Amino acid sequence: MTSQPLIPLSDATLPLFIGVDVGGTSIKVGVVDDRGATLGFTRVSTEPYQPGEQAVARVGVALAAMLEDREIDRTLIRGVGLGSPGTMDIPTGMLLEPPNLYAWHQFPIRDTMQSVLGLPVTFANDGAAAAYGEFWLGAGREDPSIVMLTLGTGVGGGIIHRGRSIDGEHSHGSECGHVIIDSRPDARVCSCGQPGHLEAYASATAVVARTREALQRGRSSTLEHVTSELTALDVAEAAAAGDALALEIVDETADYLAIGIVSVVHTIDPNMVILGGAMNFGGMASAVGRRFLARIQSQFRAKTFPTLAERTKIDFAALGGDAGYLGAAGLARSAHKDP
Ligand SMILES: [Zn+2]
Repeated sequence: MTSQPLIPLSDATLPLFIGVDVGGTSIKVGVVDDRGATLGFTRVSTEPYQPGEQAVARVGVALAAMLEDREIDRTLIRGVGLGSPGTMDIPTGMLLEPPNLYAWHQFPIRDTMQSVLGLPVTFANDGAAAAYGEFWLGAGREDPSIVMLTLGTGVGGGIIHRGRSIDGEHSHGSECGHVIIDSRPDARVCSCGQPGHLEAYASATAVVARTREALQRGRSSTLEHVTSELTALDVAEAAAAGDALALEIVDETADYLAIGIVSVVHTIDPNMVILGGAMNFGGMASAVGRRFLARIQSQFRAKTFPTLAERTKIDFAALGGDAGYLGAAGLARSAHKDP
């Protein structure tokens, strides 16, 4: 569910917006007011092997039930924000070949949702939606310009510059996970097929792959004894227990991220870089997570200009899994604010 407290309609600041966050396994749907408070929340399963039309229909049914349950008048809703994994063409509202949404290729998701919900839909990359959420209501709410990296199965990116999401001219703006950090011929290969991208080094998938390779090279570690499929969480737990290999993997991941962050910061010069996603080695709540963040900060400072080393903030995200639907709603709000 959402970790946001639900407010009643009587406490809301009008108008209202709907945020839809499409993930590989579930779709989150929230009704959000003009200040970012959540009035209602629901989720439906994505079923990526079935046509996307069916998922959009499920969203319509679940939303109608939620509006009735929360006693929200549909006429108060001004628009819908929709964040989805790519690849996509934002101007035409098309999903092109999203790698994790197997049956949703060449799917006109924006217009389908517009006709099912009967509301204008603002379409965005999921990384941009999460970044907008942190910009509007989360870790970046004091700052006009932020970059967000979402660390999970892949490395998502979002850039909000002076309140606007940078989507680029070909819907490939803000692809921070695909900046090149290794140009050697034997560089690791990214999920997009290209060698040397940040995602190939610093995603949860990459953390697991790098750990496995070290074990295969004969490094001794408590991780040898993990019987189930190795995960980044196992690495975080082993690091917390002092395992040398796991700690080395955490530190190396921080070093790779710092290299990518330097490139992005030197291009955009934001106030802040926000690290979101589940792959944070425990985040601020854990000593390993704090070590991970401190190492990214120190490695960034060592590789950038003195002014940026002093002024560019790097911190974990604040909204967790809520950033996507909140940010999608925020993008809809921003699209309808100045008619
Ligand atoms: Zn890539």
